[in-house]
Amino acid sequence: MIKIEKISKTYRNKASHVRALDKVSLHVERGDIFGVVGHSGSGKSTLIRCVNRLETIDEGRILVGGDDISKLSERDLMRKRQKIGMIFQHFNLLRNDTVYQNVALPLRYARKSRDEIEKKTTALLDIVGLSDKRDHHPSHLSGGQKQRVAIARALANEPEVLLCDEATSALDPETTHSVLQLLQDLRNRLGLTILVITHEMAVVKDICNRIAVLNAGQFVEQGTTLDIFTAPQESVTRRFVNSSFELEHLNRVLLGDYVKNALATGGLVAKLIFRGEEANNALISDVSKRFDVSASVIFGNIELIGTQPVGCLYVAFIGGIGHIEDAVQYIRQQRYVSFEQISGQVSPRGAPH
Ligand code: ADP
Repeated sequence: MIKIEKISKTYRNKASHVRALDKVSLHVERGDIFGVVGHSGSGKSTLIRCVNRLETIDEGRILVGGDDISKLSERDLMRKRQKIGMIFQHFNLLRNDTVYQNVALPLRYARKSRDEIEKKTTALLDIVGLSDKRDHHPSHLSGGQKQRVAIARALANEPEVLLCDEATSALDPETTHSVLQLLQDLRNRLGLTILVITHEMAVVKDICNRIAVLNAGQFVEQGTTLDIFTAPQESVTRRFVNSSFELEHLNRVLLGDYVKNALATGGLVAKLIFRGEEANNALISDVSKRFDVSASVIFGNIELIGTQPVGCLYVAFIGGIGHIEDAVQYIRQQRYVSFEQISGQVSPRGAPH
């Protein structure tokens, strides 16, 4: 649905050149909720704004629904943009207009009849659950409600694609979740394709089926959400994934003392991420017996990546160095688990530490 092929973008002014995007490629399939994650300044906004040509690209090609965005005439671009809805972090609502007028705006621009506007706007307000706020002004709405108005407005012209530019970054976690649920519901009901850019892994974990990680204008990793969360390959990705697991907080608080006290005699602490919770304990006790090491779970939990349970355990391995090395090598060979050494005195064979 969206094909981004080797696009680059440099911002130039008298004082400096900033290469915001450097030959990036991305393929978003119809019906995907695709998440682009990156730190501030990595090029996310530039990327999403290139998709509807709010920014022009220097090289490469962007196809949306088969149309080459760079090649469209101004008139065709206006028409195309009606099929590419967009929502923003700060909602961009007209504050002197009512909720109804805000949602109806694109329909007025599209010169729809008064009856059509009334019918469509009423239906959209119903879809986003704001029928009772129809005559309110944005200043009387909560952040979540404002974003719902913006979503309704973005859907007015029945787009095929919805672009979400940090759309939940100004919202609290609970409201974020409800807005994301709404987006997922809209994808299912209306067959939308959604491109989300965000710096929050919690957002992509909640709704995206695919993720790409952007760093300094380049994609460092792309894959299914499950693969990215359970087997991140690049250090940038690993840091993002770690930041999203609740256990990281515990890790910081508890692990320091634990490592100091319990591992003074040797051993290591590792983080194991499992796909499917049932395999966890079997592997730990198997490794313990097989390699004659003490493997004890310090703490752990199960999180959902979409609908898939993913287990995360912090495990202390204590025993002879050779035994631990063998145990680690064995765990690394298991397909359903990813292993990351957190701390300890042993540097296992073949491990990149
Ligand atoms: P993100 O959305 O990930 O925070 P941006 O796409 O906004 O990143 O920015 C990428 C890089 O491009 C940053 O270094 C930013 O300072 C620069 N940049 C963005 N917009 C402009 C602009 N209009 N003029 C000059 N530099 C810009």
